Amino acid sequence: MSVWKQWGLEPIINASGAVTRLGGAPMPPEVLEAYVLASRESVPLDQVQGLASRVLAQHTGAEAGLVTSGAAAALTLGSAAILAGYDLSRIEKLPNTEGLANEFVVAREQRNGYDHAVRAAGVRLVEVGFHEIIAGSGVRRVEAWEYEAAIGPRTAGVLYVQDRDARPPLAEVVAVAHRHGLPVLVDAAGELPPRANLRRFLEQGADLVAFSGGKAIRGPQGTGLLVGRRELIGSAALQLLDLDEHWELWQPPPELIERDRLRGLPRHGIGRGFKVSKEQILAVLTALDRFVHSPVEIKIPLILLERLAQQLAGIPCQLCLPLEEESMPTLEIQVVKQSAIEVCRRLRHGSPPIYVGHGKLDRGRLIIDPLHLDEQTLPRLAQRLREELSERTAE
Ligand SMILES: *Cc1c(COP(=O)(O)O)cnc(C)c1O
Repeated sequence: MSVWKQWGLEPIINASGAVTRLGGAPMPPEVLEAYVLASRESVPLDQVQGLASRVLAQHTGAEAGLVTSGAAAALTLGSAAILAGYDLSRIEKLPNTEGLANEFVVAREQRNGYDHAVRAAGVRLVEVGFHEIIAGSGVRRVEAWEYEAAIGPRTAGVLYVQDRDARPPLAEVVAVAHRHGLPVLVDAAGELPPRANLRRFLEQGADLVAFSGGKAIRGPQGTGLLVGRRELIGSAALQLLDLDEHWELWQPPPELIERDRLRGLPRHGIGRGFKVSKEQILAVLTALDRFVHSPVEIKIPLILLERLAQQLAGIPCQLCLPLEEESMPTLEIQVVKQSAIEVCRRLRHGSPPIYVGHGKLDRGRLIIDPLHLDEQTLPRLAQRLREELSERTAE
């Protein structure tokens, strides 16, 4: 019997992919095994993060890396690192940035709900540019010179939210920032796959890159990765780790934290609430290893979606092959003669509840992502979709 049912919760059919709100991507068996085995022995957490740094450096080409509690925490810690560096008084003060250069320049069109994580460190975001195509007022988007024009004595860094369609290209923004000695923090939380992106943004000059560990990498849902320049990663580690230790005894892994640069041991930093366990760290490293070494297999998901499409006979739907290399195909179902929101609601309220991708409801489309689907869930999913779509459209 389902463990969730034993505790009084009904598990859902997740047809919307690696969504945090629904519990993230399914973890592969070897990742779960690493989690359990890691729990059996004790290891100091700073050493575990030192190990993580070596593994992340190897897989991303970064100087160093840190496992965080999600990409969002990686953004807060990355921002805190840019603001404070190895300065003990700054580390102590954050998120209070009074008297400090605390502005990050960001394209107005890249602002999104996750940048709260950047502001949480004490950053003030300074917006530049317009997306005049979306606004319906013109043909231009944000341009590199606009970043430059916004840089002043209070500027501490640049925030860039990576997306296949992001403008201007990261390399142009990096060139402007580096001309002024400013670091660039990249939110690439959902930009895997393709696997090449693990290295791409660093190669393009980003100083820090945040990835989610619980999306396509399929590590524990609560994990993230921060990779980049050693000095910044060291500061982020200092602000994350539990530092209830004697200075005389404290020997952090040198590849992660440069002890010689400190005059003493900081107190718990702004990231102390973003604790990551040794089990989570080993599990996400295992997941990353697997992700890097196994090509994304779309044959089986494709067969599942084709079979689902057949079983939806008569209901208009379209198989969408991945636009990006190594990503998943999806099936888009067109809802006709009724409200897509209503169909979505009824699917969620059935038994078992079904959650479909809801990114295109405004266009009357349900998106089926195959990540969590298998031979067992497919027939019930097809049946519920038929009940909600074919009978009612025939009415
Ligand atoms: C998912 C996402 C995040 C947050 O990632 P978590 O690992 O859940 O913290 C941040 N930024 C963007 C753009 C995302 O898509």
